[in-house]
Amino acid sequence: MRIIHHLIVWCFGAGAAFAAPIDQPTRFLGQAGASMTDITTVADTQGLQRWIADFRRRAAATGISGTVLDQALTGLSYDADVVRRDRNQSEFTKTIWDYLDSAASDARVENGKVALNKHAGVLQKIENRYGVEKEIVAAIWGLESAYGTFRGSVPTIQSLATLAYDGRRAAFFEGELLAALKILQSGDTVAAKMQGSWAGAMGHTQFMPTSYLAYAVDFDGDGKRNIWGDDPTDALASAAAYLAGFGWRKGMPWGLEITLPDGFDYDLSGERVKKPVAEWQAMGIRTAQGKDLSDHGAASVLLPGGARGAAFLIFANFQVIERYNTADAYVIAVGHLADRLRGAAPFKAAWPRDLRALSFDERIEMQERLTKSGFDTLGVDGKIGPNTIAAVKAFQRAKGLVSDGYPSLDILGRLR
Ligand code: CA
Repeated sequence: MRIIHHLIVWCFGAGAAFAAPIDQPTRFLGQAGASMTDITTVADTQGLQRWIADFRRRAAATGISGTVLDQALTGLSYDADVVRRDRNQSEFTKTIWDYLDSAASDARVENGKVALNKHAGVLQKIENRYGVEKEIVAAIWGLESAYGTFRGSVPTIQSLATLAYDGRRAAFFEGELLAALKILQSGDTVAAKMQGSWAGAMGHTQFMPTSYLAYAVDFDGDGKRNIWGDDPTDALASAAAYLAGFGWRKGMPWGLEITLPDGFDYDLSGERVKKPVAEWQAMGIRTAQGKDLSDHGAASVLLPGGARGAAFLIFANFQVIERYNTADAYVIAVGHLADRLRGAAPFKAAWPRDLRALSFDERIEMQERLTKSGFDTLGVDGKIGPNTIAAVKAFQRAKGLVSDGYPSLDILGRLR
């Protein structure tokens, strides 16, 4: 959860890095490229201690008690590994098909069926209470922590303090650190048990502290919201509450795999173009199985691997899963894993596996060259977001190419 959805990047952007079962795509985007200057841990721990002395005053001013501050902030060390991961994450590059191979692997599907079976009673109660299908909750659990197997053992307070002190995204991490202290003050857990992945995501469903404060629930009724322990009940209910809070609609699919008709206008692809299902149907779009499209309101055509990869019709619930993680690859993985847990088959279409993902430097170069050629990417940051996709599409149109917006090595070659 994260729910660090502050930046949008689709598929194979940077990202990654919660010590989860698999590297997640772009949850948290770094200013890439920042190289690690020498980290001398001792000196930095002294710097961290000075920073904590100042921070302690700011935290106290928001109402955090001296007892909690003593418990949480005493004896913290600078965590160089956390900083290294934060600075390197945008170097992470993976195609959506490589990501999906792991995210919806047969093993993850089988383990998910076992988990669904084992926790059938509580997942059904959660579905009844929040209106979020148990397979969706299980899929998020499966991607965030491999069904509770990899919840992370990094001390949350120490990593958040280090990242706030490090300063690259100081305000964001200080906000999360304050939220973590508020959790301690609520009595739900103690600092020693507050563990998670390196950037502050905690527990079975990897909630960031601010999301925890807004959405975590005590579903088993023991008086504490416990997302860290072995029992996943509160965490699973909290994930459902989170999705419900962002408008999840029960019975609406995240999306459907589709086939496009010959002559499809690729300018109509992308999340920004929304049309009634009847219009897509009238253009000749059908499900991958050749059936009529089911109507779940306004929908978009998504081509996360370009025109040669699988095509999807996505509905409003897609945007709800995006609140967990904005990367298309992540959203599709959650939706598809949930479908597989219900017994659906793997995607029918092949992916263009001969293509490789662009490196960070190549993404930067593509943005620079597009902008220089008159196709403005509205910034050069190495992140493939809607503006870069729009620029690629415009370039493709100008060159008479299929305008699927896919930033391939071929496009970069044509720009050189
Ligand atoms: Ca509880």
